[in-house]
Amino acid sequence: MFLTEADVRAELTYEGLIPAIRQALMDYSAALVEQPARMMLRAGNAEGHNNGWFAVMPVIAGDVMAVKTVTFYPGNDELGLHTHMAIVELLRRSTGEPLAVMDGRLITEMRTAAVSAVALDVLGGTDVRSLGILGSGVQARSHLRAFGMVRPGLKDIRIWSRTADNAKRLAAETGARAVTIEEAAAADVVLTVTSAGTPILQGRWLAPHALVIAVGATGATMRELDDEVMRTSFIVAECKAAAERESGDVRMSGVKVDAEVGAVAAGSTAAPQGRRIVFKSVGMAIEDLTAARLVWQSRASESK
Ligand code: NDP
Repeated sequence: MFLTEADVRAELTYEGLIPAIRQALMDYSAALVEQPARMMLRAGNAEGHNNGWFAVMPVIAGDVMAVKTVTFYPGNDELGLHTHMAIVELLRRSTGEPLAVMDGRLITEMRTAAVSAVALDVLGGTDVRSLGILGSGVQARSHLRAFGMVRPGLKDIRIWSRTADNAKRLAAETGARAVTIEEAAAADVVLTVTSAGTPILQGRWLAPHALVIAVGATGATMRELDDEVMRTSFIVAECKAAAERESGDVRMSGVKVDAEVGAVAAGSTAAPQGRRIVFKSVGMAIEDLTAARLVWQSRASESK
């Protein structure tokens, strides 16, 4: 069975995805998931080829197995193509038979926002009012929708983007305000969703109680956050080993990851209250498997 992006869109909702991702992150931190490090190849290292990455992400959990292949080409923007594209294959664990192959672009978009929504729910106070977003692309949009599900009280939404017109456009579409980077960074919750390779967010702009949800800079030499952000915060990740291996913000600032979000959600690890926290997301195959399984189950129940 091949499912297109339109098929995936018809089945996947944040209402279903966010609780499923929460459970998946708890299962991951309880060692119930078999997931090796992703394999990441540089695609753009030959003459005449664009700058890009090609990653392969296998995982086994519960009654299924999955593998996602995903590409990230920052320059695709100028070609009118998506910067991230992916395919997910889902297999039955008991027999190895393929259950479905599906387009993974929307899955990547939605599961990433769902992970951040779980982090916001688990790590953010119930009284957070302001959200500053750095970036105005696909992830900025998906996060706005997912965050609304867990913190509907986030009404003061401030958007900064490298290209000011993009921030203005997203702000106009969503009832937010386009602001300076300093104003966005002073919010209760600060979301970084850019393709920047060097730090854009400075620690001196943050409130002492800020929750920073850092989604971009997925690569060992890429950064969105400066050393002050990292060194003055309690650091949470989906997986300690993955963040310490794959996040330039973690590696290059020299900090250690203090906790996994799944362990905090399960109550087996505590996160501090009223202190600055950084949730550094790098993305995991279990998140793609979880979304793909929901799509497949929903599709299978319709054909009965
Ligand atoms: P898009 O291509 O849709 O948007 C990219 C955004 O980054 C735009 O707002 C752009 O600003 C901004 N940007 C690009 N270069 C720079 C720069 N040098 N400095 C500041 N801003 C810059 O990408 P997505 O929204 O899909 O992805 C955003 C980030 O999230 C990427 O780094 C991506 O790799 C990462 N990601 C992480 C995942 C995870 O699991 N953690 C999963 C998926 C994506 P403008 O257009 O205004 O110029």
